[in-house]
Amino acid sequence: MPRTPIVGGNWKCNPAKLADAKALVDAWKEKPFDKEKVEVVIAPTALHLGSVKSSLEAIGMKVASQNVGKNDMGAFTGEWTAGHLQDMEIGYTLIGHSERRSKYGESDEDTAAKVEKCQAAGLKVLFCIGELLEERESGKTDEVNKRQLAAVIPKVTNWDLMVIAYEPVWAIGTGKVATPDQAEETQAAIRNYIKEAVSAEVADKVRIQYGGSVTPENCKELMAKPNIDGFLVGGASLKPTFMDIVAACQ
Ligand code: PGA
Repeated sequence: MPRTPIVGGNWKCNPAKLADAKALVDAWKEKPFDKEKVEVVIAPTALHLGSVKSSLEAIGMKVASQNVGKNDMGAFTGEWTAGHLQDMEIGYTLIGHSERRSKYGESDEDTAAKVEKCQAAGLKVLFCIGELLEERESGKTDEVNKRQLAAVIPKVTNWDLMVIAYEPVWAIGTGKVATPDQAEETQAAIRNYIKEAVSAEVADKVRIQYGGSVTPENCKELMAKPNIDGFLVGGASLKPTFMDIVAACQ
């Protein structure tokens, strides 16, 4: 069965004002897309999420949280649970983004605990993996991706809730996109690992996004590769031309 492409917009800690977020969604309205052909999921800041959710949904997009807690509810200041996201009708969350891993010390064990909570709550996950520049240069790319995946695979009982986002850390926010061949080779290896570690059926259906300096200019060539099922977009998702990336995936 063909995999439906999925494009994520990770706004990170942007834009400056709620009015800017609303203006961006208004601009996107001008370029409708076919939601039968491509799934679009936007992750605003936690503060903006509630205020832009309905306008994103009105243009056929879904919403995601950029993070989720690894614990249940209780005395965890600053956190929220997978259950809270479900209750607020936020159907997706990112887990394991490289900025969470490198700047906030999120470990493989943390990502596994978060995935476990999302599985229990029935929440969909964009699970981010990817290697550092020195890891790529020393030939460790596949090893790193496998390690990051191996931590969460035992926690997953429902693979329909999982999307993998392969984001080489050296390509994130640097303008240095992976070549289509580099991304395809790595994503084929990720799919092959899922085949070995889980099953051929899961490997065939799980969607693998590419992320890292994706733009309207470079996305078409990447999308032509068989193991690239869409994108996780940072900087370029803060522009009206994000819709050109969506259009390239449908
Ligand atoms: P970028 O970010 O598109 O700005 O490189 C991607 C990401 O961090 O998800």
